[in-house]
Amino acid sequence: MCGISGYFSRSTQPAASQVMLALYAQQHRGQESCGIAVSDGKKLRLHKEMGYVKEAFSIQTLEKLSGFAAIGHVRYPTRGASAICNTQPYLIETLSGPIYAIASNGDIVNYDEIANELRVKGVHFSSKNDGELLGRFIVYHHEREGMEIVDAIKLLMKRIKGAYSSVFLTREALYAFRDIQGFRPMMFGRVGDDIAIASESCALDILRAREMREMKPGEIEVITRRSERSIDTEQQPLLGNTPPRLRHCVFELIYFARPDSTQFDEYVYDVRHKIGAKLAEHDDFEADVVVPVPDSANFIAMGYANAKNLPMHLALIRNHYVGRTFIRPDQYTRDESVRQKFNPLKDFFTGKRVVLVDDSMVRGTTIRKLVRMVKGAGAAEVHLRIGSPPVRYSCYYGIDTPTRGELIANRMSIEDIRTYLDADSLKYLTIEDLQTCVHDSSHFCYACFDGNYPLPRDTQRLIREKEERQTTSG
Ligand code: AMP
Repeated sequence: MCGISGYFSRSTQPAASQVMLALYAQQHRGQESCGIAVSDGKKLRLHKEMGYVKEAFSIQTLEKLSGFAAIGHVRYPTRGASAICNTQPYLIETLSGPIYAIASNGDIVNYDEIANELRVKGVHFSSKNDGELLGRFIVYHHEREGMEIVDAIKLLMKRIKGAYSSVFLTREALYAFRDIQGFRPMMFGRVGDDIAIASESCALDILRAREMREMKPGEIEVITRRSERSIDTEQQPLLGNTPPRLRHCVFELIYFARPDSTQFDEYVYDVRHKIGAKLAEHDDFEADVVVPVPDSANFIAMGYANAKNLPMHLALIRNHYVGRTFIRPDQYTRDESVRQKFNPLKDFFTGKRVVLVDDSMVRGTTIRKLVRMVKGAGAAEVHLRIGSPPVRYSCYYGIDTPTRGELIANRMSIEDIRTYLDADSLKYLTIEDLQTCVHDSSHFCYACFDGNYPLPRDTQRLIREKEERQTTSG
């Protein structure tokens, strides 16, 4: 998972600083690396580093990135190793110098097919990242086949399958485009006469943007100093007569997005609140307190507590300086960092019947440690409620999930998971209940819960590859 941003300044606002602010607001979407590319009309400049936005972009660094249009990226790897060569944005060199850059959030399912096609035509890649693939596809068709950039993007939408919310920068223009099924979020807004693009609305709020709207799936925005054009490719015959079904990622609403964002026409906090209330509908046991796993389950727990008229307490304290435990490379370091990340309030849990709420369970690492911690702190009972259906399948559209075999719900029955976690009871949200928490449930992808992949043919190959890699690497 990643976050992107783009900014076109027609005012005195330096574009790179605005992009930095937008990336900072989206740091939750990726902490591994970050970067900004900027155009001053003559050439493009790029700065990228491993690590956090605030550390990578000092005032001095930003001063060197002067220009009126910029794009940026925060990365949380789904494809390609954790290395600087896989970070974004990508600058694409041509005979005229580095005059294109791209940043993208998503995952391409027919990556190998398209990359091989381009390689045969003499295109070289410096990474295994899907952002570079999109950029090289556009530049190849523009530079070598003489296509307008917009037409190259339309062709890309026809040929490249998967999830991509992308920003593409030239010396004069900023392009923003989103895949035709709308897997990943992408917002558009105005700051005076300037244009701002971001993965999440919370980033545009920080820039004080107005007229905010979600970019349409299949939409292309072209912004220059003098003009602004929105092309709705759903209307283009290029994509066929029937527009494809929308497949917004429902996991964004459950876990990934910030609760103050609006996404896929939903208030994220509101969906989480509804999820909590739904979970509560099925319970009728006596409990004393509802405790969320902070921060991602806070609103779910609140929805549960309100529906049950129970007190909710933030009784597990999270150390915000411990990064994501999820992406640690081995089980031992994952276990250790969960212990470092959470600590229970002293004497709070003694004798209490606790409803412990988390947004999701993937490998079961976090919650197993937490049940033990809460019981160790004296809780009489721990009833575990999970705000998502069991995660049984890997995601191939932009969320980093381990292989199927590592997913606890794929390996065990719910009763076995309960026993393994040593919880007094365990309930997950059902897919049907989740569907009642959004306005139009047919617009969402539930593949990580039901294995019903939106792009079945290409995804099957990726599943095989991922499983084989795991078998061969042990
Ligand atoms: P696990 O400990 O492996 O069961 O991971 C579940 C915890 O990680 C939950 O508390 C979630 O808040 C969080 N989580 C779920 N999915 C992801 C993901 N794709 N990337 C990072 N964190 C995640």
